[in-house]
Amino acid sequence: MHEVSIAESLADLIRRHLPPHQHLIGITVRIGPIHGVVPESLEMAWNVVSEKEGWSGSQLHVITPPWRLRCGACGRCWEPVTVDEHCTCGSPHADIMAGDEFVLESIDVESAVNCPQ
Ligand SMILES: [Zn+2]
Repeated sequence: MHEVSIAESLADLIRRHLPPHQHLIGITVRIGPIHGVVPESLEMAWNVVSEKEGWSGSQLHVITPPWRLRCGACGRCWEPVTVDEHCTCGSPHADIMAGDEFVLESIDVESAVNCPQ
């Protein structure tokens, strides 16, 4: 399953970035539509993987940015509904400017030690 391997690579990344003595409460990822990720499936995969890592209860937030195309003929930029949409000038030749992102945007943590002042 595509989403499970994505969740596992996210876990690898987080293991490297998580400060010691911090409890992971959530992560936010930005995944362009080119990756074909179903956010609900990735959330389910994340529940399984985060449980294994000892981060049970942490939330995965998926941001899906829109496609952005640039027409090869007239240079127009626009956000299409589908990636094979043609430019209004009629040219079918467009370059993908955005939509292939795969970014771990943020890691939300709280101190594992409850130590009131
Ligand atoms: Zn055009």
